[in-house]
Amino acid sequence: MTQQTRQLTAEVISIGDEMTSGARLDTNTQWLSRRLGDLGIKVSFHTTVADTLEQNVDVFRIAAERVDILVSTGGLGPTRDDLTREALANVLGTPLELNPSAMQHIEQMFARRKRKMPERNRVQAMFPTGSQQIFNPQGTAPGIDMMIPREESGQSRVFALPGVPAEMKRMFDETVAERILAENGPGTEIKQHVMKFFGTGESDMENRLGSMIARDREPRVGITVSTATISLRITATGKDAVDCQTQIEQTRAEIMERVPEFYFGEGDRYEQHDAINEDLTARGQNLMVVEYGQAAPLGNWFAKLGDTPAYKGGLSLADPQQLQQLFGGESEQQAWKILRQKCDLNWLLVINRYPELQHDALLPQPATDITFSVITPEEDVRTRTETLGGHPDVLQPRIAKAGMAWLRTVLADNT
Ligand code: ATP
Repeated sequence: MTQQTRQLTAEVISIGDEMTSGARLDTNTQWLSRRLGDLGIKVSFHTTVADTLEQNVDVFRIAAERVDILVSTGGLGPTRDDLTREALANVLGTPLELNPSAMQHIEQMFARRKRKMPERNRVQAMFPTGSQQIFNPQGTAPGIDMMIPREESGQSRVFALPGVPAEMKRMFDETVAERILAENGPGTEIKQHVMKFFGTGESDMENRLGSMIARDREPRVGITVSTATISLRITATGKDAVDCQTQIEQTRAEIMERVPEFYFGEGDRYEQHDAINEDLTARGQNLMVVEYGQAAPLGNWFAKLGDTPAYKGGLSLADPQQLQQLFGGESEQQAWKILRQKCDLNWLLVINRYPELQHDALLPQPATDITFSVITPEEDVRTRTETLGGHPDVLQPRIAKAGMAWLRTVLADNT
């Protein structure tokens, strides 16, 4: 049995001259609106405001009168144009006071980077009286969580987060989401679960899922896409954790019935290289990657896995001739064999090739044929060619992900 909760409303506030001048696209608001929607919160307003104290105060005051929850990003840095702390203190008519635990965290962040903390960073530990901290594990700017009383009656809750997207996202997922859900009152538990997919586009995914992604469905299923990786976030509301878990499992099973072929794992940060690492570790086998051309994202991603026996390293080379120069052999295929023997490899994944991007490229790049070769432990060569193009920011990682998807297909055939 699911429990219907009162629908809370929200406003997302993006703070900074960078956004109002058009120098930077406000991607934080889009991300936050989706997340709030996933939590069952209706986002009624988006506001963008420059780094001006008076205007910031106005924006918070107006928003507090018309919605239950305000989520702002930006203006929490240490410089004079970072005004969010001051604006919030003004709205409440309270002073800013030092939060010792925030101060300690900021000092530790500098100590870890082996840098002396500039005096001006102290300001980041100043909080309006009565507010609480939102822990920022990645940066020096803690967030602020506080209530703003409305003129007539009632109050709204503000979550002020830093502008840096990676910090903001992690703080929202790790701290803010839970606090927002607790606003629904006792007796309501909410749980989220993320499933990961690669190999199709967002619109195809939406078609395949059909009514499962309807806004009023319980549990809610939200779609987000990041460089061609699709995340489905299931948000279940129930009377307790077990109730939520049961709902998540049912929805998860339904999703798996509809799109089994694109699924590769679970969890916000889980990526295809994690899935490959787990699979190879379980088999007691290893992999090396060879990337030709103007990028080498796989080497970077696999290296981040740390010390794993499943990954023997990556080569970033100009072209197959370079591989032959290094390892010998009459042909590229022979060079692969020699490389496999020399390095004692089970699997080899070769990406041929990452295209050169025009330096000032802003437009989608023309599609070209990219060939992925997987050399199996039995020395079979399994190749797949895909025609891939796209925005310059995402083209190279997309090629790398398509290569991993092909490797996963070959691995699945090789059990
Ligand atoms: P910091 O402590 O890093 O200074 P801050 O809270 O002061 O954090 P800002 O200085 O406003 O945040 O922004 C830091 C960076 O985050 C900006 O240079 C910009 O690159 C990015 N950023 C800020 N707001 C947004 C936004 N709404 N959308 C996308 N990126 C943003």
